[in-house]
This record gives sequence, structure tokens and C-alpha cells, in this order.
Amino acid sequence: MTLATTTRTTCPYCGVGCGVLASTLEDGTVEIQGDPLHPANLGRLCSKGSALGETVGLDGRLLHPVVDGKQVSWDEALDTVSERLQTIIQEHGPDSVAFYLSGQLLTEDYYVANKLMKGFIGSGNIDTNSRLCMSSAVAAYKRALGSDTVPCSYEDLEIADLLVIAGSNAAWCHPVLFQRISKAKELRPDMKVVVIDPRRTATCDLADLHLPVKPGSDAYLFNGLLNYLKQHDKLDWRFIEQHVDGFADALQAAKTSSASIPAVAAACELPESDVAEFFRLFAQTERSISFYSQGINQSSSGTDKCNAILNCHLATGRIGKPGMGPFSITGQPNAMGGREVGGLSNMLAAHMDIDNPSHRDLVSRFWKTDRLTTTPGRKAVDMFKDLGSGKIKAVWVLATNPVVSLPEADAVKKALEQCELLIVSDIEQQTDTTRHAHVLLPALAWGEKSGTVTNSERRISRQRAFLPAPGEARADWWMIAEVAKRMGFAEAFDFNSAADVFREHAALSGFENNNLRDFDISALATMSDSQFEQLKPVQWPVNEAAPKGTARLFTEHQFNTANGKAKMIAVDPRLPANHCDIEYPLVLNTGRIRDQWHTMTRTSRAPRLAAHMPEPVVEIHPMDAATWQLKDGALAELTSRWGRLIGRVNHSNSQRPGSVFVPIHWNSQFAALARVATLVNAVTDPLSGQPELKQTPVSIRAF
Ligand code: SF4
Repeated sequence: MTLATTTRTTCPYCGVGCGVLASTLEDGTVEIQGDPLHPANLGRLCSKGSALGETVGLDGRLLHPVVDGKQVSWDEALDTVSERLQTIIQEHGPDSVAFYLSGQLLTEDYYVANKLMKGFIGSGNIDTNSRLCMSSAVAAYKRALGSDTVPCSYEDLEIADLLVIAGSNAAWCHPVLFQRISKAKELRPDMKVVVIDPRRTATCDLADLHLPVKPGSDAYLFNGLLNYLKQHDKLDWRFIEQHVDGFADALQAAKTSSASIPAVAAACELPESDVAEFFRLFAQTERSISFYSQGINQSSSGTDKCNAILNCHLATGRIGKPGMGPFSITGQPNAMGGREVGGLSNMLAAHMDIDNPSHRDLVSRFWKTDRLTTTPGRKAVDMFKDLGSGKIKAVWVLATNPVVSLPEADAVKKALEQCELLIVSDIEQQTDTTRHAHVLLPALAWGEKSGTVTNSERRISRQRAFLPAPGEARADWWMIAEVAKRMGFAEAFDFNSAADVFREHAALSGFENNNLRDFDISALATMSDSQFEQLKPVQWPVNEAAPKGTARLFTEHQFNTANGKAKMIAVDPRLPANHCDIEYPLVLNTGRIRDQWHTMTRTSRAPRLAAHMPEPVVEIHPMDAATWQLKDGALAELTSRWGRLIGRVNHSNSQRPGSVFVPIHWNSQFAALARVATLVNAVTDPLSGQPELKQTPVSIRAF
């Protein structure tokens, strides 16, 4: 078969952000290869990325706008959206409406949505499913470093002598990065890997030491490490003195919670020898990276857990140097880009803060608006609670499926059934969320849309269209801008292309910046359309001082706080909000599997991906299975105080006794009781608002 064209683009799945070469063949099929020139993957792809070509079909696609069940023209749909939103705002005020976005959106979509809600509707009620993913890491970075800044590059992972992987099954969730780490360890067998995870996952195959911690006890472990480093004189006193505040209080808190190795071992339910071995490895290995993800973040104390990790790096000066640093890994392809443009309800665009009057003034002047919100909006979980109570009347959901993914998913479903106005832009006609929509707007899918995403190492890459827009599908940024124009804000939303939006976003990042703010891509603000088309992957900041981007940050040990010093935080560890008892004796852990993505609306199109795990499983240790008389392969019912799920029992020695694991992906199109988020309590971290998706007490019985 002859190749028609090959386009250089980026994978739409995880936060590794791999470069992809997509070739459309003459018969219309799409061939996928890894891009050897993309620095994130250097030609590699995982199973999901390799199968992208099988997921671009149009079966089940939403191809036309729909209002109240009837297909309508774009004009009619956009008029309806703007009129209904305006009516609600006039009657109940700007905070009666909300936008709920997604890490699947492009930065340009995010930017325009954020500008409309925060800048012109005048409400902070715009949040994103990144709240479920990275918000604890963000809150912790801001507390410790003064900004939401990931210091490291992927290359640092390859040159580290010790890699501490906490709360991440990278082998399945960030596979190409895991391949890079595996290769590095193969070349340098002395490189040590410690995995901290209640489960023995595929990632543990690389581990020199696996610590199957008691679920939720991570802060005791990292506080214990800080205390151990002090006791063994392994702190960098000079660094602390010159560059860090808060050391004494953080150490005191660490001593109180985690006084000794036996105390830590007891709190984390680990062998003392293993705790001692971890502490010894960290103490003696200068080039160490702590690589962490949802097992740390998705917790009612996620921010503190992240800060307990950051504390250990600040106390040893292991940040801003090759092969060293704290490194949070984002789950989604553009969770980072969303943060850059203010996709979280407490942020403004370009990493500025709603709570900061000078930031509000700056953004107001740049956007030429006098309507900018002065208060943060509702975070994801609270947004849907307010929708349920009627305080929020209308929500526009873009590129996400909250009826499957948000905790207490049945309450979310009820809220959407009852609300006055639900607008959904999506690529799929039938999802658990679209079926409740009053207005459905057909969005462009991967392969059809064009713009930028930012991966976990701050690298901005282009997603490029290589397929024609099907039916009447349009870009998300376009539909938001069209609604904004109809609401009376035509001048501010006069965008004609994704390049237009990106240039404005880049210009705002440099507007009156003078190195005051970390996020600065002003060197990209004057790109022509063709330069935007050709844009090569680049790590921010990209400004006058660093026109080719920046691989590593904080190399001068100047942090983004008022006095330039980083801050150690006194962490008082808290266990999960809900405790197991006689009625609900097991801890439910949720997470991804290797070959599915989110709520499976795309990956379920590729039969070979389904072969890995064809249906929802309930992984349970054989000892627990014996206690509850659960046969391998039989069906089991899980019940929590918030919901029910039926899944296939899978006996697994990798499961920690006393806990079960269920994947997050299945939706009710697969089976009526397949949504695991129905079981999860909507309790959140008080600072980040991130829900505790990893530790819900459940009961189990044969079904
Ligand atoms: Fe896509 Fe992530 Fe796989 Fe790379 S590792 S191909 S970004 S899913």
C-alpha cells in the first residue's frame, strides 16, 4: 500500500507525551510509528500508542450539533448555548454556571475556555479532570518552590543513581518512560530502583527493593527518611542555610511522627530491614530522584505527602542538579498545559493566582476586561456537589466523562440528570455523560485537531491534524470562542486559528514578567503561522534568556518565593479519611491498566488492546479470596457506603492482603455495575481538592 502522507504529531494518551509519525495510506487506514526525533520517546511507543491507527474510525462519533435531542445547525446550537447561559447568569449570577475541562484538551482549548469563564463571565468556576490527577503535586510545588514547577527532565531519570518510584505503576501507566529507565538500568546495573507501592506491580520487576507500604502511610515513610538523614548527618547544611526556610519545623514534625526505623516500620507495616535499606540507599546516593504519581496524589492528604517527599530533596540540596530532584509525573497528555493556562479553578492564566491582586490586575489589563473574577471557583468535586444541590445551574463538560470518573459517580449522574443545562462537547455520541446532555457539540478528535500539549517534563509539543474534520465536528477552542462572541465579547475572542490562540497565550506569559514568574514562553509569541506549524518540541521556559528552552530548573537555587528560598513544610501524617471496619473490611485501590485509557471511549475501538484485560477485574490476594470464598474467575460484588460494582475475581499474589484493586476504565455501556468510581467517597485533600481515589473501605462477596 502506498503512503499518502506522514505527519509528525504527539500521542494523546499519557503524560510521557511521545512523538508519533502518523501516515495515512491511500485506502484511508492510518499507520503509526514512534517519532525517532521526539526527545520524549526517541522512536519508542507503547501498546496504546502503537494502536492509535485502529482507534480513528467514525463508528459512534458525534458528528452534528444536537439540542434537546434534535440535530441542529452550528448557528442554532451556539445561539442556544449562549442564550441559555446568559439567561441563567442574569437570573442567578456568574457563579451559577461552570465549565469542566480535561487533560485531553489542547492548550489552546483550555486557554479560550479559561479566558471566557474567568475573564469575561467573571466566575472562577472552571476546573478540570486534572484535579483528579495532579492537583496535590501542584499544591505542594507551590508551597515548597513558590510555583507549580517540575524541576527535572526525563534525562535526569536516566542519569540518576537512585530512583525512588512512589505510588506509580510506571511500567503500565507511563510505559515509554519506564522503558527508558529500564534501558538506563541495563546499561548501568549499579543504578538502584526502589518502588513504594502497596501492590507488587509490573514496575517492581525493575526494583532492587519493593516497599509494599500500608495504603496511605507514605508520609510516615518520607518523614522517617528526613529524620534518618538528620540522625546520620546526611543533610546539606549549607544549602538549607542559604536556600531553605522551614527546616526546623519540618524536622520536628518528622521526629514526632517517625522517630525511628521501628516506628516507621510499624506505621507503614513494613519490615524494619527494608525501611533501613531504603533510608541507607537514599542517604548514601547523592544523585537521587523521587518519581511519584497518583498513589501519592490521590489522597485526602496528598499535598502533605508530596511535601514530605520535597522536604527530603530540599534538606539534601538534591534539586536543580543533574540526576536529582522531585519529579511528579502527570497522568494525562496535557494536564501540564492546562495548568499553564489556568485550567484549575484557583489559578489564572500563565501560572498566575486569582488570590494575587497584582496578577489579577495584570491579566485584566492584558485581556482588556473589567469582569475578571476576584475569587477562586469550585474545585471539581465541589463543583458537581454544587450542581447536585442546585447552586450551580449549568455546566459545560468538554472532553471528559465525569459520570464514570468522578468519585460518588452516581451522585454526579444524578446532578447531571437534574441540572438546568448540561452542554457536552465530545467526540462520542453515547457516553455515560453525553446521554444526559441538553446540548451536544461535536468536537474534533486526535488526528483531526491541531494545537499544543505539554508533557511531564515541561515539553511543549505539537499535535497536528492529518485527517479531515468528519461531519460538522469543530475544534473546542472554536466553539468556545463562538459562544463568547455571541455573549458580547467578540473583540476578545477574535481567534482564527490555534496559532492565534497560542501566540496570545505565549504573549501573556511574558507580559510584564521580567523573570518574576516561572512560566514564560514569550520567545514563542511572535511565531508566524508557518513557524507554529513547524514548532519543534521545546521545554519551557522559552524566553529571551533561554530561546531554545530549559531542561532543568532551579540550577541557581533561586526559588519563586518572595525571598527566593524554598520552603520545607511541617508534615503531620494523616491516614485515609475512611477507615476499614467489620462492615467494610478491605481497602479498595483504583488505577489504570496497561492497555486501556480513561473511560475507554477510544481504546475500546482497538480489539488487540481489549485482549490484555477484556473485562473489569477485582484483584484480591488468595488469602483474602479464601476468607471470602471467592473463586478465581467467578464474579464478585464490591460494596462501599457510596456504591456497588460487579467484577471478575482475579487471585493475585501481587495484591497486598487486606486490599483489592479495580481498574478505573469500564463504563456502563459495558455493564450496568462497572463504574468503580461509584464506590469511592468524594472526600478530598483540603488544599488541593484532589479526591481520595486510592483508599475506600469496601466489602466483598461472591455474586
Ligand atoms: Fe502514548 Fe504514553 Fe504510550 Fe507514549 S507512553 S505512546 S505517550 S501512552
